[in-house]
Amino acid sequence: MLQVAVYGKGGIGKSTISANISVSLASRGCKVHQIGCDPKHDSTRLLMGGESQTTVLDYVRTVPIGRRKLDDVIVKGTAGVLCTEAGGPEPGIGCAGRGILTTFDTLRKLGADDLDLDFRIYDVLGDVVCGGFAVPLRGEYANAVILVTSGEFMAMYAANNIMKGLANFDTGKPRLLGVVLNCRGVENEEASVRAFAEAAGTKVIAVIPRDGKFREAESAGKTVRELYPDSVPSKQADAIADAIVKVAEGKMELTYPHPLDDDQMTDLAAGRPIRAPSGEVPQARILCDGCQVKRRTSIKDTGMMQSCAAYGALAAFAKMNDVGIVLHGPMSCLHLMGTTRGKAVVEQFQKHRFKVPPGYNMYCSGMDDSMSIFGGTRLLEETLEKAAAVGYRDIAVITTCMPGIIGDDTKGVVETVSARHPGTRFHTVLTDGDINGEYTDGFMMGAKAIAGMIDVSRPRGKGMVNIIGSSFYDLHTRRHLHELTRVLSLFGLRENCRFLDETTSDNIIGYCEAEFDFMINDTRATREMAEILKERTGREPFPLPLPIGLYDYEEWLERLGEATGHPEAAKVEIADVERRYAAFIAEHTPRFQGKRVIMTAKMYGNLDWLVDLLLDLKVDLVRLGFMPSTRKNKERPVSRHECSFTEDYWLEDLVRDMEELDPDLLICDVVMPMKGRCRFARMQKIGIGIDAELAYAVYLENMMRLPNKEGWREVAGL
Ligand code: ADP
Ligand code: MG
Repeated sequence: MLQVAVYGKGGIGKSTISANISVSLASRGCKVHQIGCDPKHDSTRLLMGGESQTTVLDYVRTVPIGRRKLDDVIVKGTAGVLCTEAGGPEPGIGCAGRGILTTFDTLRKLGADDLDLDFRIYDVLGDVVCGGFAVPLRGEYANAVILVTSGEFMAMYAANNIMKGLANFDTGKPRLLGVVLNCRGVENEEASVRAFAEAAGTKVIAVIPRDGKFREAESAGKTVRELYPDSVPSKQADAIADAIVKVAEGKMELTYPHPLDDDQMTDLAAGRPIRAPSGEVPQARILCDGCQVKRRTSIKDTGMMQSCAAYGALAAFAKMNDVGIVLHGPMSCLHLMGTTRGKAVVEQFQKHRFKVPPGYNMYCSGMDDSMSIFGGTRLLEETLEKAAAVGYRDIAVITTCMPGIIGDDTKGVVETVSARHPGTRFHTVLTDGDINGEYTDGFMMGAKAIAGMIDVSRPRGKGMVNIIGSSFYDLHTRRHLHELTRVLSLFGLRENCRFLDETTSDNIIGYCEAEFDFMINDTRATREMAEILKERTGREPFPLPLPIGLYDYEEWLERLGEATGHPEAAKVEIADVERRYAAFIAEHTPRFQGKRVIMTAKMYGNLDWLVDLLLDLKVDLVRLGFMPSTRKNKERPVSRHECSFTEDYWLEDLVRDMEELDPDLLICDVVMPMKGRCRFARMQKIGIGIDAELAYAVYLENMMRLPNKEGWREVAGL
């Protein structure tokens, strides 16, 4: 079967010519299938007595997958020509180009490949240069391409663009059949189209005059080829059909296109002789270098990301307990985001059991393929109504890639729905999936939207603190939380708002009532959050982040003692922790002294407490490695031991060090199977003060005592 794509500017006469070609081919006994690929969906009308047929896209929208049949979208028309219309969305909504892809997919799934055919004619709109309309140019579709143009510049411009598309989908075989001139009657028409064709390395295969018979035939719902088979237009249609048959029989050569460059197009527009091409003629391009294997391919090299911005924004809002979250996008996105992040995970950490089904406060517009064509605004509106009916005071609306790509008017829909629900606040975050970045970027976009809820007119109060951070894992065990509460109470303080974790809209609104704002750690992400809050509220965070381990803790206690006017409380606590720490170190050093330790992490929280602790226990730290950050804005360790760190420390470096440095203990946040005498301990995020630190030291000690073989199996530490 030969597949021929007929391309040209809208209204140039593609459908009329395609239908005439189809009839001409059918009249010689050929089996022909014509597929209209123009949202105008009138390609096959002349083959169906002027009637229109159900389009594939309308069919896909209304008939569920299990009930679809090929016969419903392929109708037999004049002279037995099989007719299909792709259809498309309303102008300005959705993505018509995506519709072409879906049409082809649907036809294939319904078995169109098995039809007994000699020719398939694709009648395709050519002014649109998006990828969807280029699909018929792909190798598996068009074997031959016909360009319909008049002598008008814009028509030739569109034809030139199609040639560029054709060059980009080079299959290694020439595919350009030729140019059909459909005359409009402009000055010098035939000469300029012939000059254009020649410059592009092809030829004019037919010249169709402007002829009133076309209108006449159209009124009768027929082709000129049927009504006036001996007319000039019919003979020209036959000439095109002849050329197609010759190509099918291998008797006519196709050519590679040489699309005109900008200078050449300028000559064409000006009616001057067309100059020679300035640069290289576009050749087939190989776009990948498949065999180039790099030893080190990190996310920052490859540009891959852990997850998308929509996911990040959703995670930010999921830290609030009373917000409804509407994800505008496919259900699968919500499924992945909802089960792995959000409140359910927080609950697990706190209560150590699954209490709440994941995603209980999350909704999804559930976009599918048809939404990507017809636009998802209607579904979004329904979903927002559903969430609003639950009675949330705040609803976050977050967009995934799909509405971003097709340009859904998400803001417009939110405004409409919000007007109907004056009691509900809507927060729209146009993350557009990974179009707007990776997880942390989206988290910050969400955080910014949430910071917008803060009532900045509230006066600074006394006795309460906010905690700022994007990662609160260190406070998710009861013990760590109790310790924080205890330490704060020494200074007459208690928690006001966690920005962002386990919080509510009231907490956020009352953010400014706190006396102090503490960063939970000193990572880049936390500093970014503090910056967002500073911008919104003008408040400076406390100069030191929440401290872990003796040395940071002492410094922090002193500063807080001064700031709160309770220096003696700080002194008492410092004396107590110093005494307990010293006693602990004296007791435990014998079990650590001289042990060789490799410590490596992909976390960038402050790990000084651990380095200090190990040094106090007289351990030999033989390597301090930091794995490459997956963040786009590369995270770097913040540490007083920074000069001892190996940055960009890769797993293969670790494997080598495990051989060469012969450690007794590996402390790492990636589980590794151990060999020989080395033991494994998992790196943990832990809470404020020294209790968590000392408990961790006991854990290390226990790990060093345990055998690392269980039966025949080598085990990793738990
Ligand atoms: P397209 O499919 O490229 O959008 P159509 O085939 O629908 O264009 O043609 C647009 C209109 O132009 C139709 O009404 C058609 O009858 C008319 N038409 C096309 N070619 C000619 C011609 N050579 N002479 C007169 N009318 C023509
Ligand atoms: Mg058309």
